[in-house]
Amino acid sequence: MNIAIDGPAGAGKSTIAKLAAKSLGYVYVDTGAMYRAIALYVINNDVDYEDETSLKNALQNINIEIKYVEGAQRVLLNGDDVSEKIRQEAVGNMASKVATKGPVREKLLQLQRDIAASTDVIMDGRDIGTFVLPNAECKIYLTASVQVRAKRRYDELLAKGEAPCLEQIEKDIELRDYQDMNREIAPLKQAEDAIYIDSSDMTIEEVVDKICSYGR
Ligand code: C5P
Repeated sequence: MNIAIDGPAGAGKSTIAKLAAKSLGYVYVDTGAMYRAIALYVINNDVDYEDETSLKNALQNINIEIKYVEGAQRVLLNGDDVSEKIRQEAVGNMASKVATKGPVREKLLQLQRDIAASTDVIMDGRDIGTFVLPNAECKIYLTASVQVRAKRRYDELLAKGEAPCLEQIEKDIELRDYQDMNREIAPLKQAEDAIYIDSSDMTIEEVVDKICSYGR
């Protein structure tokens, strides 16, 4: 059984997918983390990702692995656990840029399909229901208004002890939505057979229950 959850940045996909996976006994796969790991490499190595040759050379030096420690997904970049480092806002914004590039998407596609083929998964991302797992038994398109998504991210950063700017977060989210929805390859959109959930006025529990009711 494969459940695909797609939706824009900050819609709560990972929080909800993690809880639903736990409740159903499935493995949660966060594909955004894979794009973020490539973005981290690009930032740290100053890769000119707009130049196809530089990007392809860099990709040859990148090895992404996914492992599970006590049920939680960890992402390894060339053997280093980068699961925490990739959560920075700058890495997310760079991920959205490198994710427009065909060679980057090709590199991650097989890894994602292999994991889904090996076990029951809830996989979240932008193109899971439309492209990575077109035959997933259950597809969800999870969204929320830009204002609600920005406020959630703002609260998360505040809780981490950072000093976020709500206006800047809103701008970043709008830009990320635009980039993710308008790229040529595998843009973010609702699959025809996906269930649409707007979580703006729903609690986390309500969304999890709804998804679990489809997964059982
Ligand atoms: O979900 P998250 O915010 O971690 O994803 C970071 C970026 O990775 C997204 O903004 C998107 O551009 C890209 N991504 C993607 N396809 C996926 C998952 C993430 O293009 N399946």
